[in-house]
Amino acid sequence: MHRALFQELMKKSGGIGGPCFYTSEVMYMSMIKTENICKSFGELKVLKNVSLSVEPKEVVCIIGPSGAGKSTYLRTLNHLETIDNGKIYIDDRLLDDYENGVRKFRLPAKEMHEELLEVGMVFQRFNLFPHKTVLENVMIAPMHVRKLSETEARDRAVDLLTRVGLADKIDAYPNKLSGGQQQRVAIARALAMEPKTMLFDEPTSALDPELVGEVLAVMKQLALDGMTMIVVTHEMGFAREVSNKTVFMYDGQITEQGTPDDIFQHPQSERLQQFLKSIL
Ligand code: ADP
Ligand code: MG
Repeated sequence: MHRALFQELMKKSGGIGGPCFYTSEVMYMSMIKTENICKSFGELKVLKNVSLSVEPKEVVCIIGPSGAGKSTYLRTLNHLETIDNGKIYIDDRLLDDYENGVRKFRLPAKEMHEELLEVGMVFQRFNLFPHKTVLENVMIAPMHVRKLSETEARDRAVDLLTRVGLADKIDAYPNKLSGGQQQRVAIARALAMEPKTMLFDEPTSALDPELVGEVLAVMKQLALDGMTMIVVTHEMGFAREVSNKTVFMYDGQITEQGTPDDIFQHPQSERLQQFLKSIL
């Protein structure tokens, strides 16, 4: 999908938060698409033909046991891991194409960099700069990478920190914040780059239980605002309530996917049934 066409469609649809435009039968597009991704670490096959398509404004939750390859999969999407096989598309644009360890195609570096900026990521550990204030943490990347002026970056940061409920913390240092607050800063920091898709890798797993809700609430609002999201989570309530599609990963494969109702009420495989029993 060409960017200009996408932007035109976004305008017609009222932009993020506007009515959906992608249900039209004449056009199909995906924000992120992978075909047959394979990845090994030495002898260990961690991803085995993972194919997934995420449409604009869709929220996809990935669930599955530890070691299933969920983090590795997310990391391949924004090039924190290389792949051995398969195709990765962002915005319907082919970034990578590998066949049995051989690179068939890769987007030139500059274009690749631009496409990857469209994908924001939030990790389990927030990794804020400890010697910078909350506001500075959110301003840095837009100034250095997106080349925003300091004023623009500050306005954007204040706006986003307000959105995640931290307007009163902008001058604080990260170590003065709770884990939940730090994770909300990390979300604001990722959003400050204006990504089209956000990846979350167990964003609440490192938090004390009483702080999980405030982070999930911010993520839910983001979903309601129309952000395209892929969320690896053990929060089954969130997956049920917020995702349009839930994906079950097991042993390096997507073994089942469907609506939350399909996955949680009508799990097909014994493995998914067992997993749900163990976690719910
Ligand atoms: P999940 O996020 O579902 O728990 P991961 O993607 O983190 O699973 O890991 C999948 C498998 O890959 C695990 O067996 C893990 O030990 C292995 N693994 C992950 N990263 C590396 C790495 N950098 N080197 C070697 N093995 C790894
Ligand atoms: Mg993981």
